[in-house]
Amino acid sequence: MNIQERYLDVLRLKDEAAVRSKRSKEDIAILGVTKTRTAEEINQAIDAGITDIGENKAQELVEKYDNVKPVRWHFIGQLQTNKVKSIIDKVVMIHSVDSIKLAREIDKRARAVGKQMDVLIQINSAMEDTKAGIPAGELKNIVSEIAAECDNIRICGLMCLPPIATEPEDSRPYFREARVLFEEMKTWGFPENKVMPTELSMGMSGDFQVAVEEGSTMVRVGSSIFGPRNYK
Ligand SMILES: *Cc1c(COP(=O)(O)O)cnc(C)c1O
Repeated sequence: MNIQERYLDVLRLKDEAAVRSKRSKEDIAILGVTKTRTAEEINQAIDAGITDIGENKAQELVEKYDNVKPVRWHFIGQLQTNKVKSIIDKVVMIHSVDSIKLAREIDKRARAVGKQMDVLIQINSAMEDTKAGIPAGELKNIVSEIAAECDNIRICGLMCLPPIATEPEDSRPYFREARVLFEEMKTWGFPENKVMPTELSMGMSGDFQVAVEEGSTMVRVGSSIFGPRNYK
């Protein structure tokens, strides 16, 4: 199968999961995850209908940026503060904010280019030491801090990256927990220009249908669209 055929397959499965869970298909976006892919492969996906893509390394994003057709770029990986400057004017959303230090840098760089940056808070539901994300119990604190300090950031929801699963069902409890937090967030009553939780970024190639059933608004799909990855 080529990229277009695989993308259409993912789109169909995503829409079927939406129907199954009595949700509207339009409420769930597909983010094509393009790490390790060439600009040419990304352009094929855009021709097939992809409107949003996600990269997890700043340098890779910057290298490809000029050779990719107009599309909405998202940043989905661990972001070092010294790389924020290079992507701030290129992305529509940063999914992976997990510290006040990173938020402050994003705020500063967003102000410098005159934009308000949409971000998601990455939660670490499994409490894994090795992975990025903040524990659920600290979510309200970090949201309050960012809302109070960072005028050029708007928090648009949460990103959830569960431990690598062998079965799609293994991810369900993590997705369910993220959904509960997301719904809680909506009741906190921060000003809408600071905190407007509309996006729940969860689900990858192995488990995106489960994620849709559990309330995802944005699935991040790489290998199911582009084929298996070969890391250099
Ligand atoms: C690579 C990656 C994905 C997509 O992974 P696939 O299994 O290829 O779909 C999603 N989210 C993040 C944060 C990633 O780094």
